[in-house]
Amino acid sequence: MTASRTAIITGSTSGIGLAIAQVLALEGCNIVVNSFSDTAQDHEIAAELARTHGVEAVYIAADMSNPAACRNLVTQAAERFGGVDILVNNAGIQHVAPVEEFPIDKWEAIIAINLSSAFHTIAAALPVMRGQGSGRIVNIASAHGLVASPFKSAYVAAKHGIVGLTKTVALEVAQDHITCNAVCPGYVLTPLVEAQIPDQMKTHNMDRDTVVREVMLEKQPTREFVSVGQVAACVVFLCSPAAAQINGAHISVDGGWVAQ
Ligand code: NAD
Repeated sequence: MTASRTAIITGSTSGIGLAIAQVLALEGCNIVVNSFSDTAQDHEIAAELARTHGVEAVYIAADMSNPAACRNLVTQAAERFGGVDILVNNAGIQHVAPVEEFPIDKWEAIIAINLSSAFHTIAAALPVMRGQGSGRIVNIASAHGLVASPFKSAYVAAKHGIVGLTKTVALEVAQDHITCNAVCPGYVLTPLVEAQIPDQMKTHNMDRDTVVREVMLEKQPTREFVSVGQVAACVVFLCSPAAAQINGAHISVDGGWVAQ
């Protein structure tokens, strides 16, 4: 990977997004870290990436539920670094409820953050990437972009939507040296997931290993969590020259979940 490429990773102050920011910084990319909270801690994440990897890194606050903020994030990044080489649409939230009880505001927030934000950032990034004659777009979908689970209607709809958006954009950019692909992780061990384990152990009266294997990873045939590093490594590969002809694909990193 060439040094001094610029990468925007939406929702990159924790979990998978942070891991992607770290590995792209390790690869020598300048990094735009994003979330909506705009705290000193958020800015420190960017400063730490810059110190550790000797790249330029900035934190830009933008609420991915706001179309103008999504587009501004890309515009600001392009102005700051003189271009955008990699766009990773990662920001995402979840809510679990039966369809008939699903709160309307939660439905709308999930569709906005998990799906529409990618439409807006991509629309803003494509003129920049076309101007440069290159670009890589990676959308973090989910196993739930390919198969469903009950009680996750908004999440499953948004993630299926982003797989469709990925394919459409791929066709539109196919002759512009830009690629657009989706990564579909299974159950990833993020701090948020880790924090759920003690409660699950209590609810099911099971030890850690049993609750992880039998309850949390019931759908994941390996019965092992995916690591954030494994998802991030897939993103790095999709941004490498070796992946130049991978376009419109969805790559599962899910321990075999969707093979069933
Ligand atoms: P996380 O909660 O650890 O991180 C989400 C990030 O998005 C945070 O940085 C948060 O600040 C940011 N964010 C949330 N709402 C935002 C908003 N309105 N505007 C800007 N930023 C916002 O989650 P994670 O588990 O790392 O998930 C990252 C992505 O991976 C999501 O799209 C999620 O759907 C997907 N995913 C996660 C898993 C999993 O098991 N953890 C599995 C498959 C897919």
